[in-house]
Amino acid sequence: MKTRREFLKVAAIGAAVLPAGSAALRSAPAAAAVPDGMPRLELDDPAAVALGYVHDVADVDTARFPRYEEGQLCSNCRLISGPEGDDWRPCSIFPGKLVANEGWCSAWVAKG
Ligand code: SF4
Repeated sequence: MKTRREFLKVAAIGAAVLPAGSAALRSAPAAAAVPDGMPRLELDDPAAVALGYVHDVADVDTARFPRYEEGQLCSNCRLISGPEGDDWRPCSIFPGKLVANEGWCSAWVAKG
């Protein structure tokens, strides 16, 4: 069970990342080259924790995120960018970090 403090922390992080996601939805990401040295998103990054990001979709906490449906992957999310052949690609929800093609988070949006 979440404490009030944990809830407020998650709500604050969500409020911080939602504007970025909303902007991303208005402009579809292009398949631009990925900058050299861009780090991978760490699982213990506070924003990753708040949105339930996992590197492997098999690790989705379906009790916490019942909205998850089989077949949802970062690779078919509207918010990922970069070359489709890359295993790790930029995501507008997590600026400056790479997410795994086989990953997932609760901000997933179907490609249009
Ligand atoms: S599911 Fe979409 S929003 Fe979430 S990390 Fe993957 S690409 Fe980004």
